[in-house]
Amino acid sequence: MSPVIRPDIKTLFHIDPTWFEKNGRDLREEMHAALCDECRALYPTPDDARVVDRVHPLTAQVTRVDALWECLADHCARRPEFITPATPLTTAIFRALLANGNTPLSSEQLHKRIRKSNPAGILRVLLGTEIENGVMPFEES
Ligand SMILES: [Zn+2]
Repeated sequence: MSPVIRPDIKTLFHIDPTWFEKNGRDLREEMHAALCDECRALYPTPDDARVVDRVHPLTAQVTRVDALWECLADHCARRPEFITPATPLTTAIFRALLANGNTPLSSEQLHKRIRKSNPAGILRVLLGTEIENGVMPFEES
């Protein structure tokens, strides 16, 4: 029998894109809403920002990247207004994951990034009955 794993402050969470599909919501719209004014002027709708070419500065290799993730991680998330003391906790968690390119983070790591509440408090929110913005425990497959 495999032991039941209880989530703790080291349990990893990520944004589950399938949650958005199942709930009739659009992850790209939520991402677009998190853009700063400058990036939103660049990409007025979520569909404007689908894929862009990124040229590697050293190898000149071209990769196709999703502009919304790029903007959020490389630009908007570095601005002080991305997460402020007034940002609701659930929004701050969602934005921290966006800024991380949706690489899973634990409550402990989230706390270091958003500097709100405390790791146990963040975990309680993450495990709450109401799933906010598709943030779910990350299961390695
Ligand atoms: Zn930006």
